[in-house]
Amino acid sequence: STERKPLTELSGEDLARLESDLAAEFEEISQIGLGLDLTRGKPSAAQLDLSERLLGLPEPGDHLAGKTDVRNYGGITGIAELRALMAEILGVRPDEVYACDNASLSVMYDLISFALLFGTEDSPRPWIEDTDRKWLCLVPGYDRHFAVTEKFGFEMIPVEMGPEGPDMDEVERLAADPAVKGLWAVPIYSNPTGLTLSDHVIERLAKMETGAPDFRVIWDNAYVVHTLAADFPKAANVLEAAANAGHPNRFWQVCSTSKITFAGAGVSFLSATESELAWYGKHAGVRTIGPNKVNQLAHVRFFETAEGLRQHMQLHREILVPKFEASRSALEARLGGYEVASWTDPEGGYFIDLSVGDGTATQIVEMAAKAGVALTPAGAAYPYGKDPNDRHIRLAPTMPPLDEVEKAIDVVGLCTLLCAVRKAQA
Ligand code: PLP
Repeated sequence: STERKPLTELSGEDLARLESDLAAEFEEISQIGLGLDLTRGKPSAAQLDLSERLLGLPEPGDHLAGKTDVRNYGGITGIAELRALMAEILGVRPDEVYACDNASLSVMYDLISFALLFGTEDSPRPWIEDTDRKWLCLVPGYDRHFAVTEKFGFEMIPVEMGPEGPDMDEVERLAADPAVKGLWAVPIYSNPTGLTLSDHVIERLAKMETGAPDFRVIWDNAYVVHTLAADFPKAANVLEAAANAGHPNRFWQVCSTSKITFAGAGVSFLSATESELAWYGKHAGVRTIGPNKVNQLAHVRFFETAEGLRQHMQLHREILVPKFEASRSALEARLGGYEVASWTDPEGGYFIDLSVGDGTATQIVEMAAKAGVALTPAGAAYPYGKDPNDRHIRLAPTMPPLDEVEKAIDVVGLCTLLCAVRKAQA
């Protein structure tokens, strides 16, 4: 790519030659019917195999968590051993964590539905009584977050992510509106940008004055231990920061073992102040008598300690790093030097965010589909599925085997370049 020139510097003749070469290649690949899939950020089978031992835990005869028989009903807080383990990972106190059932998405859905129906401890009335409800969404972000707030009738307001987080002046300006009830954030290795919020941004989120007295940040630490490096990021203690700033209940933090053990059979966690957890337990305790404590004990036996969990994540890393490296090389090989796209080089998480020419993401996704590579729909990382610049494509390289990742990303690069060349010709 060193001899390549930016597309803008190519002559009409050069562009025409490039277009015809790429178009021929595209046709050839389309004939093959590749059937590759880069859509969902799921762990691969090899990653799931790392946790196979969980299927035999806890062993017959091993039922006790403290004095609790995990096979029986009850215990809305989750078992103490696992709460303590995750508290250490999150840098909070064990009594600031509940261990729940398998999906943190359900916990997030619960939190918002409880606030809507009953109000939080800080709410003058249930949120549902305010027909004008708004929610701030850092973009690009996680489509399933946006699906929840859309379903519950919030008007979603996008705020663009920069390298250290959102423009906090903008967030503060928007949050001054009493109709704005909260904000979605993925603080570490965000989906899909891989970005991590800076300490400065976190401090301002904790401190900022909001129009709504019951403003909440859903602090989705889904990727807190999902490093692609030897070191682990330090999770900021947002509960402490918020308490110091005089807004103790501001953060509802969640995470899960979905991408640590089994995506369909892990354990999720809610971390908040003790009073906020009691509020959650009061409402959640009506819809369930208690979570799956057998699975929670299985996870305690499996990891043993927070350090055990971190070591386990290093095994994931060994599987994932080659896929991210292959993705980067494939993008560089196809696109490097032409100045038609840029892509993130994440230090953790599950995604690469490919930024293409304005107004071309949808077309590139369609072309890739024709060439046998399924991509997440363009716009999915934005509220209502609408990327105003039609620029972002989320690439999820974790699930397919390495050779398929290489091939699929190469096809994405080809489609991106072909699209850019045609745009330059137009
Ligand atoms: N939060 C984020 C940011 C995610 O990317 C995902 C899955 O992709 C989830 C939550 C889902 O978590 P869970 O499996 O615990 O519901």
